[in-house]
Amino acid sequence: MAVAPLKITVLGSGTSVGVPTIGCHCAVCTSADPRDNRLRPSILVSYDGRNVLIDTTPDFRQQALRARIDHLDAVLFTHSHADHILGLDDLRPFNFRQKSPIPIYAAPETMATIERVFEYIFDGVQKESHVPRIETRSIDGSPFDLFGLVFQPIPVLHGRQIIYGFRFGPAAYLTDHSDIPEASLEQLRGLDVLFLDALRYKPHPTHSTVDRSIKTVETVAPRRAFFTHLSHDLAHERADSLLPPHIRLAYDGLEIVVPAEGQP
Ligand SMILES: [Zn+2]
Ligand SMILES: [Zn+2]
Ligand SMILES: [Zn+2]
Repeated sequence: MAVAPLKITVLGSGTSVGVPTIGCHCAVCTSADPRDNRLRPSILVSYDGRNVLIDTTPDFRQQALRARIDHLDAVLFTHSHADHILGLDDLRPFNFRQKSPIPIYAAPETMATIERVFEYIFDGVQKESHVPRIETRSIDGSPFDLFGLVFQPIPVLHGRQIIYGFRFGPAAYLTDHSDIPEASLEQLRGLDVLFLDALRYKPHPTHSTVDRSIKTVETVAPRRAFFTHLSHDLAHERADSLLPPHIRLAYDGLEIVVPAEGQP
């Protein structure tokens, strides 16, 4: 189905501890380049007046204020690591404004962790103050429609864990991963834009590296790619200059407009 152009806003391009990292005095953590300031990893997908958030980071409040998000229609979760879920409580102001629950989509094991970590949201006990009003929707590998746009969960390996990235129209967002199964690579053909984890240059057991993600880009051949979940090992200006022209480092606040599918 043809959908109006998508806008992807990078709310955070940093790794789990963020950049600058607490207590670190390295050149990147003390850099004056605003692109070296990286909140925890998340994007906002906007289309047809809808806002779909991928992951609620511990920085979500700050990210929502900075990007001037004034409504939220759904949240998708990639997995349950702290840097991807801990901002969930900050959905409350959207409940107040919208006067309705917000649907959240996650795999069963991710949802189980969210329900354990945020037990007070789900325990059914009447509260004296507000808790987030959310509706949980379980996802598997099947595509699902959100307001006229199909989201396809893409299984990826994050260390030994299988988690989800998402493809939506001619765009895909694959945060935390160390390997991408062949069948998932096949689901990434014909993209306009691909976001990929590229933590650093050195290998890491649960994350992709710059070199590995360059190879992924060569394999699935999107028109352009952006690397995210970046650590303080990557100085934006230098690391960006070493990449092929169709691959760039993402940075907080970056906005990418993706043409409607089928349109060049
Ligand atoms: Zn992460
Ligand atoms: Zn540092
Ligand atoms: Zn993770």
